[in-house]
Amino acid sequence: MPRISEVSVGPRSPGQFEPIVGPERMARFLDAAHRLRTRMAGRVVWNVNSTATGGGVAELLRSLIAYTRGAGIDTRWIAIDGPREFFVLTKRIHHALHGQPGDGSDLGDGEQLLYEEVLHENAMELVAVIRPEDVVLLHDPQTAGLIPHIVRAGAKVVWRCHIGVDEPNEQTELGWRFLAPYLETAHGYVFTRKTYVPPMCDLARTEIIPPTIDPLSPKNQDMTPETARTILVHTGIVEGPANTGSREFTREDGSPGRVDRSADVIRLGRAPSWDTPLVVQVSRWDPLKDPHGVLKGFTALLDGTAPANAELVLAGPNVHAVADDPEGPAMFEELLQTWRSISHSERRRIHLVNLPMADVEENAAIVNALQRHATIVVQKSLREGFGLTVAEAMWKGRPVVASAVGGIQDQIEDGQSGLLIPDPEDLDAFASALRQLLEDRELSLSLGRNARERVREHFLGLSSLETWGALIERLDEGGNGEPR
Ligand code: UDP
Repeated sequence: MPRISEVSVGPRSPGQFEPIVGPERMARFLDAAHRLRTRMAGRVVWNVNSTATGGGVAELLRSLIAYTRGAGIDTRWIAIDGPREFFVLTKRIHHALHGQPGDGSDLGDGEQLLYEEVLHENAMELVAVIRPEDVVLLHDPQTAGLIPHIVRAGAKVVWRCHIGVDEPNEQTELGWRFLAPYLETAHGYVFTRKTYVPPMCDLARTEIIPPTIDPLSPKNQDMTPETARTILVHTGIVEGPANTGSREFTREDGSPGRVDRSADVIRLGRAPSWDTPLVVQVSRWDPLKDPHGVLKGFTALLDGTAPANAELVLAGPNVHAVADDPEGPAMFEELLQTWRSISHSERRRIHLVNLPMADVEENAAIVNALQRHATIVVQKSLREGFGLTVAEAMWKGRPVVASAVGGIQDQIEDGQSGLLIPDPEDLDAFASALRQLLEDRELSLSLGRNARERVREHFLGLSSLETWGALIERLDEGGNGEPR
């Protein structure tokens, strides 16, 4: 028997954005927030997903809900529940929408029945608290089956899908066919990219909202070079001695935090010195992030006329700590084999880093330090819905070299706010982009400057709050938002 649970999120004042976006932009936001607050008086915006922790969606929700609550709008978060076989099924649907077979299991009548039963039970609990004047934002395939129930209860319903691929295939068709019966009656849809919108979602009722980052989170908050250095020396990623900086950061709830744990680093010889130019990729150990390709592309760079003394850091979560990513350890093991197979002199310049995961905010602070210290951040993904790591590095003013896949194409304007590699498998193009940036400091600086401005303009939480507000206004006014 499912038990929905309410996730508690404390309010955070959106006023904290003022030094970041300037008074004019802030005034525009406050104006929009005031309008929405007036419109939503006595009403609730419900967010419904299937997990309170883990994954980008939970991280995104936590921050957006905190600032919306801080703006005086009653925003809540409910996590649905279900038996294990329900989540095995929804993971299968998730893979399908990514164009992948996943475990290859059926998506037939039996599965449809299980899906409907579990969501019906969750819906019964939800409609007991949701009022007809409320707005309900349902996230991802796990919640799509709630749509008809909540529409019947009279509330406005928007389904937000965080996944998608540019090129449909047999699997995506299978996944969308499964969800189609539930989607039709939603008042609105939100996708990350236009190409991700399936045919059964009416474009006139669809809003495109890219994911955004929180510039005040431990991952992205300002950090002095001294603090970054102390953190990186303490964790063993760069060579000491540490300077006198602190290892402190500010936690989500405003309390002080400190980086105490070390990274688990595999290397040959010494850690890079503070002055060594670092090429950095931070990602889960996942084939689609192509760490093998990064490693091979970097060795191609060394085989050519290798610029100066650049070294490579491939960093990801500690493979033994991520219970819900069973592919991680095997992937890391394979990478280790590849690393062992390259020449001694090249291996000395490639560091494989497992970051501590016991405290996610401490982990975030280490990622923050590493991204800030990187000379170049790379994201050589073979597929990517939207690269949070790309937005994070751009916000830190880093020049980014990334594959022109999925949402990354909307994030980086090639040659302006980073460099895009048209074919993600083209190692020579990857190596020559690295060489170009390592040799041309002016270009690196200008790409980094433009990157930060691009994130400020389009990819901070403030922008998406405004777009959500405008969408709710339209739903109320029956513009794009009336069910067919
Ligand atoms: N990340 C992290 N620690 C790690 C590796 C990754 O905090 O050791 C974060 C990374 O900074 C980013 C997120 O995990 O915020 C990954 O999001 P992205 O969209 O890049 O890829 P996904 O993992 O969702 O496919």
